[in-house]
Amino acid sequence: MSTHVHKALLQLHTKLDACKSCPNMIGPVVHGAPVVSKILLIGQAPGPREGSFGKPFAWTAGKTLFKWMEQATGANEETFRERVYIAAVARCFPGKAFTKKGVKTGDRRPDDDEIERCGKYLSSEVEILQPDLVLAVGQMAIEAALGHKGKLDEIIGTMKRDKFHGRELDVIALPHPSGASTWHRTEPGKTLLGKSLALVSRHPTVKATFA
Ligand code: SF4
Repeated sequence: MSTHVHKALLQLHTKLDACKSCPNMIGPVVHGAPVVSKILLIGQAPGPREGSFGKPFAWTAGKTLFKWMEQATGANEETFRERVYIAAVARCFPGKAFTKKGVKTGDRRPDDDEIERCGKYLSSEVEILQPDLVLAVGQMAIEAALGHKGKLDEIIGTMKRDKFHGRELDVIALPHPSGASTWHRTEPGKTLLGKSLALVSRHPTVKATFA
């Protein structure tokens, strides 16, 4: 079974690697390893550095994310990457966003069409992996998994049972670990992040994955 799933993931990654569906996205396509896992971590979109490393969360936000995950699972980055399938709302770097005066304001948020196009890969990943737990990292991933467009304060620190691409599963929301965000470093973000990490730590799928 697991060989069959691994093969299906490799086939999907071949399609992903060749994808050029979004004219405004900047390649290369970035995705995690073809890990057969019941945990699906969904990030937002790669930053400008991830393409050269060929893996998601390869730069500063990743350092924070893997520190959080070590706190919740006991596993270091290497082990976490080997046991959890890491996906994203969009798999290409969207480029920088600019104000009307041409000042850079951070990474561009993928538009709805790009999210929809890339969503077909997420849908395939759910179909192949049949995950039991989604870790939704950041506002866009939370919106994709739960349809939640409100404040992070209302959703971080909770676990929801929901349908995601036709599969009923648990979703735990986490803030984006970007250094540009102060939400998770100030209250109530710090406390709510701790609650989410405690939920991750106690989840039976996490316990089984990192036993
Ligand atoms: S963002 Fe997704 S759908 Fe768009 S080109 Fe990249 S891989 Fe393809």
